[in-house]
Amino acid sequence: MHNSSRWGLGVMLQFLLLAALGIAHLQAKIRLSEAYLNAISADDAAEQASGSYNYDQQGRDWEGLCQDGQQQSPIPLTYNEAIVTGIPRIHFYNYDQNLESPLVLTNNGHTANMVLPPTQNGQRAYINGGLLPGSFEAQSVHFHWGSANSKGSEHSINFQRYDVEMHIVHKNIRYAHQTVAEASAYWDGLAVLGVMFRAVDRAFSQNTGLLRIFNRLPLIIPYQANTTVAGRLTAGQLLGNIITGEFYSYNGSLTTPDCAESVTWTVFKDVAELPRRQIMKLWNLQESRMRPLINNYRALQDINDRPIYYRALQ
Ligand SMILES: [Zn+2]
Repeated sequence: MHNSSRWGLGVMLQFLLLAALGIAHLQAKIRLSEAYLNAISADDAAEQASGSYNYDQQGRDWEGLCQDGQQQSPIPLTYNEAIVTGIPRIHFYNYDQNLESPLVLTNNGHTANMVLPPTQNGQRAYINGGLLPGSFEAQSVHFHWGSANSKGSEHSINFQRYDVEMHIVHKNIRYAHQTVAEASAYWDGLAVLGVMFRAVDRAFSQNTGLLRIFNRLPLIIPYQANTTVAGRLTAGQLLGNIITGEFYSYNGSLTTPDCAESVTWTVFKDVAELPRRQIMKLWNLQESRMRPLINNYRALQDINDRPIYYRALQ
């Protein structure tokens, strides 16, 4: 039996969520799954709960675990100090499957963020292998950047920082029924893939998936603005054609308050290219104080004798 009052409730719930997120005006045109809306809503709630932090001092003024933690991120990654060992490669599942469409891109005042829905076959894109303590489902993607005269990556590789760093946040399937924020209470809760981007005048090859997202950035300039990214997009298209067999891995934290020490980091050594005119679109976004959202990266943290592993191509 098709329960029409339940369907009505679903529509109502969707409207309320969209209204709460300030995207009620999109309601007329788009239809997002309830699961996706719930995930966006949870992400938004976590963002609100993290308080009104800013990047004025690259996070040096953040409190609590951000100040006292001993396993914080980002850190400098250097080949010479890494343990080079035969760890498995990262295995990608459903990364070639189209994600549910449309996707919602948000300016949350700290970054351009996109919560990732399940794929069109109902499964999630997920990863395992590397030093990951389990399998981790892709939850969201966001970026850290600099400005016209500064680089914005969070990690450095061999003392070099890059123009942009992309983070694909994953949640351990052990915590499948908990939110990302809830999973961040556990040491094995999250896994983040980090990809470096170098600004180029003319890209050797265009990452069309990423360009589709960047082309929407002019629509989310104001703080808390949302837009949709329509059409087919896979999680794999975020990575483009970078070499995923070479990476650094270590145990660290979220790089934003509350800086929870729940992240197994995998930072790829290969650096992707992005046209400078695309990166410039990031610099136009505004933060909550209506100032340009630039240099949204946290300062490097102490390694504190943590082992850092490096996987070379075998
Ligand atoms: Zn990040």
